[in-house]
Amino acid sequence: MRVPRIYTHHPLSESHTATLDEKGIKHVREVLRLSVGSQIILFNGDGYNYSGEIVEVQKRNVSIQIQDRTQVECESPLPIHLLQPLCRSDKIDWCLQKATELGVSTITPFISSRVNFALPHKKIEKKLAHWQSVIHSACEQCGRAVIPVLNAPTEYQTLITSLPEHSFKIIANPHQETTHNHSPETLPEHQHEIVCAVGPEGGFSPEEIQLSLEHGFQSHRLGPRILRLETAVVTLLTMTQARFGDLN
Ligand code: SAH
Repeated sequence: MRVPRIYTHHPLSESHTATLDEKGIKHVREVLRLSVGSQIILFNGDGYNYSGEIVEVQKRNVSIQIQDRTQVECESPLPIHLLQPLCRSDKIDWCLQKATELGVSTITPFISSRVNFALPHKKIEKKLAHWQSVIHSACEQCGRAVIPVLNAPTEYQTLITSLPEHSFKIIANPHQETTHNHSPETLPEHQHEIVCAVGPEGGFSPEEIQLSLEHGFQSHRLGPRILRLETAVVTLLTMTQARFGDLN
């Protein structure tokens, strides 16, 4: 039987007893129905898997005796920063999950002129916690032991002025002339970090495209059909990993 793998934000070290977060406790007790003596793997984002045995299960506490730790080697050599438009909850959750599976290192949700989704200031903290938990679950499932960084939602125009100059920046633009820059083959090899921007359902405005180009973005078309934003996210990340990263 596959040993369950669970995220905890608590410190982990060999030969110590670890505890779980509230979500982990619920998962172990109510979903997996594990009991004392069960084997479990924990990770907290430090790059290691910690395997151990459950030594206590209570309503508000699950303790695990850590026996061993192993380094996890599944991080992409290519740091990818996804600029993700705010959108409906189920859609953005799906994008965060897939982006994590596809190995991104940073995700910044953004608000641009055609983002059709309001996120009141007082709800941001709660939303971020929810997105973080979607990312943790995706890491549990796909085996990553390094958690992608999730930034707070930012205005697109502010965001693109704050990106490192040395990064290679791509904006997905269905209206890009087919003769220019539409093929991944035109991207230079061996980039240090790649920034991937996908627009909201209403697309980027011409001004946003123009401003992105002025800030060093290259505009790329992902084939001749208009993709939904979530398809475009997966396609652009897949293309980037296949060309420069570890999807080969
Ligand atoms: N109606 C919008 C389409 C929005 S699709 C428009 O005409 O621009 C949402 C986002 O997905 C787009 O902003 C773009 O970033 C990306 N996208 C969709 N299809 C694409 C394609 N064929 N090539 C490049 N990017 C695409």
